[in-house]
Amino acid sequence: MKILKQYIPLFVAGILAACSPNSQQGSDEQEQKDEQMTSHDIHSYSHPAEAVITHLNLDLTVSFENKTLEGSAELDIENKTGVNEIILDSRDLNITKVILDNGEETTFNIAEPQPYLGSALTIAIKPNTKKVKVFYSTSPNAAALQWLSPEQTAGKKQPFLFTQSQAVLARTWIPLQDSPGIKFTYNATVRCPKELMALMSAENQTSRSKDGIYHFSMPQPIPSYLMALAVGDLEFRELSDNSGVFAEPTLVEKAAWEFAEMPQMISSAEELYGPYAWGRYDVLVLPPSFPFGGMENPRITFATPTIIAGDRSLVALIAHELAHSWSGNLVTNATWNDFWLNEGFTVYFETRIMEKIYGKNYADMLTLLSLMDLKETITEMGDTSRDTHLYLDLEGKDPDDGVTDIAYEKGRFFLTSIENAVGRERWDQFLNKYFTSNAWRTMDTKTFIEYLETELIKGDKELRNTINYEAWIYGPGLPSNCPVITSSELEKAEAASQAFIGGATASSIDTSGWTTHHWLYFLRKAGESAQTITTERVAELDKAFDLTNSGNSEIQCEWYQLAILNNYEKAYPAMESFLIHVGRRKFLKPIYTALMKTPEGSKLATSIYAKARPGYHTVSIQTLDAITKYGK
Ligand SMILES: [Zn+2]
Repeated sequence: MKILKQYIPLFVAGILAACSPNSQQGSDEQEQKDEQMTSHDIHSYSHPAEAVITHLNLDLTVSFENKTLEGSAELDIENKTGVNEIILDSRDLNITKVILDNGEETTFNIAEPQPYLGSALTIAIKPNTKKVKVFYSTSPNAAALQWLSPEQTAGKKQPFLFTQSQAVLARTWIPLQDSPGIKFTYNATVRCPKELMALMSAENQTSRSKDGIYHFSMPQPIPSYLMALAVGDLEFRELSDNSGVFAEPTLVEKAAWEFAEMPQMISSAEELYGPYAWGRYDVLVLPPSFPFGGMENPRITFATPTIIAGDRSLVALIAHELAHSWSGNLVTNATWNDFWLNEGFTVYFETRIMEKIYGKNYADMLTLLSLMDLKETITEMGDTSRDTHLYLDLEGKDPDDGVTDIAYEKGRFFLTSIENAVGRERWDQFLNKYFTSNAWRTMDTKTFIEYLETELIKGDKELRNTINYEAWIYGPGLPSNCPVITSSELEKAEAASQAFIGGATASSIDTSGWTTHHWLYFLRKAGESAQTITTERVAELDKAFDLTNSGNSEIQCEWYQLAILNNYEKAYPAMESFLIHVGRRKFLKPIYTALMKTPEGSKLATSIYAKARPGYHTVSIQTLDAITKYGK
């Protein structure tokens, strides 16, 4: 399969017409939308300008015994140019048969698989073909699927299955056109053991069916990376008329308490940028091996249990995933090179939700910590590195490589810098219109710049210079108009860290009123001056605050890094259990990286990783194999 290198705008007329069942626009406006330009997706084999999928009808049986999903994917297609084949993406699928509209069997070809892209699946069709139905089963090693044994769950009694489709893993469990620029609606029937409950990124029932058969409908168009399925021993707790929490029975009460402010988050988000478009908003709490903090699967965010801190201090993650209901799920990055349009907007939006609910002082803490992370990332990458441009160049790379602070945080600070330039009122008006007029569509970087020019800059040269989008989007590092962030709350943690580094005893530090974020700041500052504090002083901190057994995943992650830096071995058994128990890549990456810096540390990392690796999702394994030099 040839993968195009150039940045080629293609007309995708028809895709949008076919996939906007909810839109009320008139035909003129629709035609205008149909002519939307988007860029070619180098991470999909499909040719959507020729033949594109518009609806999926999925029928799957879940086998925990074989670790497979087996059944069929029936795709409605639009053959725009009368071609005699349609190309789908597939990876590690066992395809047995493909039939067309009337049940007539057709020929298909599976190309030689390529790393992370899998194989082009080319199916012979006719100019008037409306449906292709692929019969298949998944591989037990399908990269999107994680099959957990009962021991890996909270309840320890039943197995668990969850999917993670972003970025290009949907093709490992469904044959489809796996590109964020292609949206489709779907229905599904899922058969699972009757003691378990199945949930999808669709309309879900809130109680278990008697026979283990579940029917789903997603009437709004979504891209493939938002296809999601989870099967486990789950219960539901309602938080409001249109929101609630699913979790394992032993966790569900705790989760409902932790996320009690979710209804308030939904109304705050709506006040900011318009109505929530997806009906219900629920959260599913997964077992701890989930590789991400959360995944914004529409109607049902998948979340890590590591945000259940017992004090609601890590709920910004829910605000983030909720914000994706606008930025990402409603207005979607056209390709993974445009990933910042999903994540930068979402981090910005998340912070606005947090500010609305918890106040500016609270949001400033989150923002300053993020800016510290971003600066560290840029230093690691090199401040002239191409990888620090907002518009990414993922040619020849797994799009998962684009999941860095650049898309998230540099993206957010770019938007904050525009807000600073034009004022909040004007910026919010712009964003409101952006989400409304681009709803259900895809967006690429070039189109966004055009939109910014017409709707905000409007020929104002001085404003264009102030915003300086070229430097942010197509330039490295942090441009000179990057916002300056201060936090009066974190100044308290700063003073405490100075005092401690200067010799004050740990027990003399006044930590009353401290949140997780004060602790993170304090520990980072202590880590920065690690040369001046000793193992004994780290032990003193532990004695005063029992940080080794904190139970707060963010604090533990920061603390273990400080412990490694200062050879504080007393923390290692707890750290080992954390690394074996938790699969969230954000935590694993810095801890293993810190360990690998010394010969003794890398020995320990290798031994822990050998035990922990079977419990991690492939997304985490891929990153950590490289860090720990696994098998080398
Ligand atoms: Zn996100």
